[in-house]
Amino acid sequence: MATHDCDSQPGLRPYLDAKHDMLSRLEAITDSDIISLEHSLNRILADDIHSPIDVPSFANSAMDGYALRAADVTDDAALTLIGTSLAGHPFNGRVGPGECVRIMTGAALPIGADTVVMQENCRSEHNVIYPRGPVTEGQHVRLPAEDLAQGERVFAAGTRINARVLSVLSSLGLEQLYVRRPLTVALLSTGDELKSPGELLAPGDIYDSNRIGIGAMLERLGIRVIDYGIIDDDPALIRQAFLKAANEADALITSGGVSVGDADYTKQVLEDVGRIGFWKLAVKPGKPFAFGHINDCPFFGLPGNPVSAAVTFHLMVRPALAKLAGETLAPTPTLQAKTLMPFKKSPGRMDFQRGIVSTQPDGNLGVVAAGAQSSAVFSAMAEANCLLHLEQDRGNVAEGEMVTLELIDGLYW
Ligand code: AMP
Ligand code: MG
Repeated sequence: MATHDCDSQPGLRPYLDAKHDMLSRLEAITDSDIISLEHSLNRILADDIHSPIDVPSFANSAMDGYALRAADVTDDAALTLIGTSLAGHPFNGRVGPGECVRIMTGAALPIGADTVVMQENCRSEHNVIYPRGPVTEGQHVRLPAEDLAQGERVFAAGTRINARVLSVLSSLGLEQLYVRRPLTVALLSTGDELKSPGELLAPGDIYDSNRIGIGAMLERLGIRVIDYGIIDDDPALIRQAFLKAANEADALITSGGVSVGDADYTKQVLEDVGRIGFWKLAVKPGKPFAFGHINDCPFFGLPGNPVSAAVTFHLMVRPALAKLAGETLAPTPTLQAKTLMPFKKSPGRMDFQRGIVSTQPDGNLGVVAAGAQSSAVFSAMAEANCLLHLEQDRGNVAEGEMVTLELIDGLYW
């Protein structure tokens, strides 16, 4: 993809260019499993789903009322009630001229009837029904195949089975499904300063939050995580972990050690045991992001700073995992909002600042910063409900300017 990058800092890959390049170097797994519908939540369909039946499969009522012939509803209509059709208990007779059947929502429309009048528009006296017009023929009748027709493609391969998809699959009566096998991802943190929650902090130590947070995101995506724990800043140990992970996982995700500090060995080891695709993105936060391969295993080196790690996971690793898993991702919808305060920004990198967007009294969207924008302040990330997409070439944003943003609540993170 040709990307305008005159304002890019030297050596940095513009975001869309890097993402496109990365995706072109990844191949989807092809193995699939047959699983029962009830265990399919969060899996990815391996095949297109065609409906085996019409949904609904019979004409039925959308209201509680009376099934009748529309032509019978005249000003002085008085119809003889000849029976009842309940959901699951159809009326087996035929509705003739001057007749009607009591019908409940979801019950089959009896033969002969073409219309339903809701009970609120009928008067009933001694098995005689007086419907009030006007009526339109076919009103309150759900037709066969109105939702889905037999043979119609309902979902494409690559669809993630969320609760709504699962509900539709259930309505088709499907018992078993072909789904892609779940990805297995090895996850590790590098850093001599890192301790696991529960351990005591020595001077200079911090708690490892990336592995826990990124691990949770992976789990939400239905991915099997192999936890390699915390690896010290020691090239030999890092090398050993990388080779082992490349052998047992579909992808390796690391955090830390991708900057240019004295103890940043991730990139060096990757170059040694594998191939580096690119390193350094023209994005903020998240400049030191590394992508490559160790043998056939894709490698994603997240920056150590927790905000950078989470944001680059979202921007780069999430689409990469979708490609590997055979999942089709819909393009991210973005919104326009007015800034309710100024945002600092210098040209050169695309800036994904954390924001809180809300509907203003005038009905338009307004956005403020979610706390401090330092890539080390992770609490702001948890407070945010959106990521601003501040364009690479853009400078400071004044209060009142329009910005593009992406909602992040309710996603996998
Ligand atoms: P690095 O990329 O290793 O230079 O780390 C950059 C910053 O992120 C440093 O302040 C690290 O202490 C911090 N950091 C690295 N890894 C983690 C982690 N797993 N959890 C929380 N902070 C981290
Ligand atoms: Mg480090």
